[in-house]
Amino acid sequence: MASSNKYGINTICTHVGEIRDEQFQGAISPIYMSTSYNFDNVDVKRYPRYFNTPNQEALCKKIAALETMEAGLIFGSGMAAISTTLLAFLQKGDHVILQETLYGGTYNFVVEEFNKFGIEYTFTKSLEIDDFVSEIRDNTKIIFIETPSNPLMKIVDMKAVSDLAKHYDIITMIDNTFATPINQTPKDFGVDIVIHSATKYMGGHSDILAGAVAASQEHIHKIWNLAKNLGGSLSDFTVWMLERSLKTMNLRVKRQSKNALKMAKYLENNELIEKVYYPGLKSHKDYQLAKKQMKYFGGMLSFELKENIDPMDFQRNLNLIKPSMSLAGVESTMLSPAQTSHGLLSPEARAEQGIKDGLIRFSVGIEETKDLIADIEQALKKTIKVEENTI
Ligand SMILES: *Cc1c(COP(=O)(O)O)cnc(C)c1O
Repeated sequence: MASSNKYGINTICTHVGEIRDEQFQGAISPIYMSTSYNFDNVDVKRYPRYFNTPNQEALCKKIAALETMEAGLIFGSGMAAISTTLLAFLQKGDHVILQETLYGGTYNFVVEEFNKFGIEYTFTKSLEIDDFVSEIRDNTKIIFIETPSNPLMKIVDMKAVSDLAKHYDIITMIDNTFATPINQTPKDFGVDIVIHSATKYMGGHSDILAGAVAASQEHIHKIWNLAKNLGGSLSDFTVWMLERSLKTMNLRVKRQSKNALKMAKYLENNELIEKVYYPGLKSHKDYQLAKKQMKYFGGMLSFELKENIDPMDFQRNLNLIKPSMSLAGVESTMLSPAQTSHGLLSPEARAEQGIKDGLIRFSVGIEETKDLIADIEQALKKTIKVEENTI
């Protein structure tokens, strides 16, 4: 078993945690689908819902190493990871601070479930550190952040938030799904617990639903205690698929990040595009902060179409780029937040959050950027023409 700290990132992705196939000397980890293991005379009593099958343990080592944490835990979905981790540290009468503009599922979980448990919560007014400071109460136990944020790619100062939290003995949690450990390692900035929807970049091929958490041994043990009771573990086949996906995560995410920067620059110079939101652009308001805490700037960006281009027609006119929910696959996809994640809000409420009807979220894949640009060019041309014809 390869230990984590002496290896570079691609070696961690490829090897850390791998199970040696002693029986047949195969090159990859064997898959152990058993849900029943011997209990007699063994060190570990294994059962999938205890999160301790051979494949689960192997994958957790890789995820912990990627986040430079002591330990990890994997779940059946990103939301299972988020809900279990939050609840593991909260009880009746506690208070949690969450940043404004959170992933929709996390937001819904908090506002729909926390009252039942008697847990108090506040969303910050902005992502500025002062708006975190002003929400702190005597009973605040957790600060929960997500950077870059969805869909406008705003950046939160991880160091400032975790310094603040430490001062008050508060635990910091981050949803690191968009950045991935390839682009930022929150532990370097003092964040205690890192959570992922592994459905996204960790899986990376739009075919796995999973979640992951990395933290200290002590924190993971606390999360595990609740996790085995809630039962959000995943199938060992999915675990094994995810181990395979992670082997190429650095290659994929680096390429996607480089592509995204090229696409952001192209879109910024396109006269049919009103505005581009990408933390790697000098025009982004948090560019300096992003540079401080990110290695590359990620594969996600958003842009606003000029008003004379219908966003839905534009997406229908794309040939290569798929209009789809979700994100982070090797294939490029786009969606309209106003029609999907923020579709239930009124246009005014959306406007307040800066989400215009013409906003498109772009998950940049690994294709050649010249082909992506050509696809966007032809779709823009076709959409404008359609509008002219219908006048
Ligand atoms: C998708 C997503 C989640 C939820 O993950 P699931 O795997 O769908 O449960 C959480 N956070 C972010 C940022 C996401 O994109």
